[in-house]
Amino acid sequence: MNYISTRNKSLNLNFGNIFLRGLAPDGGLFLPKEIKKFSEDELKELSTLNYIDLGVEIISKFCLPVLEKNKIKKLLDKAYSDFNTQNVVEIKNIDNVSLLELYHGPTLAFKDIAMQVIGLMYEALDLNKKKINIVVATSGDTGSAAIAALKEKENINLFVLHPHEKISNIQRKIMTTCDSNNIFNIAVKGNFDDCQRMVKQMFNDEEFREKINMSGVNSINWARIICQIVYYFYAYFKFSKKVNFSVPTGNFGDIYAGYVAKKMGLPIDKLIVATNENDILCRVINSGEYRPSETKPSLSPSMDIQVASNFERLLFDISNRDDQKVIKSMDNLTKKGFFKLDNEELKKLRENFAAVRINDSETLRIIKDFFINYGFILDPHTATAVGASYKAKNKSKTIVLGTAHPFKFLETIKLAIGKNIEPPKQFLNLSKKVEKFEIIDNKLKDIRNYILEKAK
Ligand SMILES: *Cc1c(COP(=O)(O)O)cnc(C)c1O
Repeated sequence: MNYISTRNKSLNLNFGNIFLRGLAPDGGLFLPKEIKKFSEDELKELSTLNYIDLGVEIISKFCLPVLEKNKIKKLLDKAYSDFNTQNVVEIKNIDNVSLLELYHGPTLAFKDIAMQVIGLMYEALDLNKKKINIVVATSGDTGSAAIAALKEKENINLFVLHPHEKISNIQRKIMTTCDSNNIFNIAVKGNFDDCQRMVKQMFNDEEFREKINMSGVNSINWARIICQIVYYFYAYFKFSKKVNFSVPTGNFGDIYAGYVAKKMGLPIDKLIVATNENDILCRVINSGEYRPSETKPSLSPSMDIQVASNFERLLFDISNRDDQKVIKSMDNLTKKGFFKLDNEELKKLRENFAAVRINDSETLRIIKDFFINYGFILDPHTATAVGASYKAKNKSKTIVLGTAHPFKFLETIKLAIGKNIEPPKQFLNLSKKVEKFEIIDNKLKDIRNYILEKAK
């Protein structure tokens, strides 16, 4: 499988190249040249596999010939060996909600599912003969998942930028109490969009990128997406009839993986984008205008995002893979602060996606009601997707993606149900551990200098 960029269709790179680079040299996002559909017979075959074997079949489609099937099998076996459930994910039917729990990995959020694999890919691809410096922006969960996957790795440094005081206390503590000396936590005095923008600027600075041999593990890295496609297939096969998926959405990575699954032939009806009050994706689906506004802090901080990077991949697709059009839209976004979809694009968007906004008070009520009615505690992100599935009113069965364990958002849960949650066993001593992080101004120069100094 070879790869192009959303801003340059004539690019031709293999999986190893795009994995290390993360972002395309033209500032676009990498995409495979083509996405093949599974036939009905193939789908039938896939439906009999366990999670890891299914993962091997799907992931290898995108990595061959750079990574062979047997290598991927080894990788997945190791990546998921310390998940606390047999088949990586769990599906629970609670009243009329089917919940796909994706948070059984080491840091209790769905980010582990891709990140644990990616951490091992650096070794499998034989990339780290030279020291690699990975820079990642996090809205709270990506950072801890990356740290868990990359701590103590030889020849890798990891720099994690999180927005200062805009993530939950537990999210911060999980990241900053890691005492491996290849991990550097930076609290940026800004919001997530600032962190992500600066990471992209560093990637686009050829000299800087080369100097530190920079790599990235944000969901702009295609490898994240391919690992996330697997659970859409896995969940679908448990029901084997047309389904919707309701997905708590921030950077559009997770739900975009669902869209790719659909392109690969999975009979998905609607992908329901659940957002909090940072509802840019809702607005674009309803009005056709993509216009970021101020980011508002909410009870679901991992979704407090206005610039949803992966939307560019979808834009490329719904505009009939027109790279020039994508360049123009992205240019408008930078210069005028927005771009518009034409009718054809909007039609394709609405064929595949619906969007529902759930505000903080609704989120609290959903957590409370769900607890009272079923004795089950939802995290605030998952709660938005449960709310969206109620509101979306669609005839097909809806599977809700559970993206985090409620323990990560203790304060909010306490607010909703008036109770504390017991920490899962890996986090029993979290409050006693020493935190280590650097607070840095929201300035590219300062962040760059810090990274340059530590990257030596
Ligand atoms: C990252 C995250 C999301 C949003 O996922 P995207 O791929 O950025 O859309 C939702 N919920 C939780 C708990 C997350 O950590």
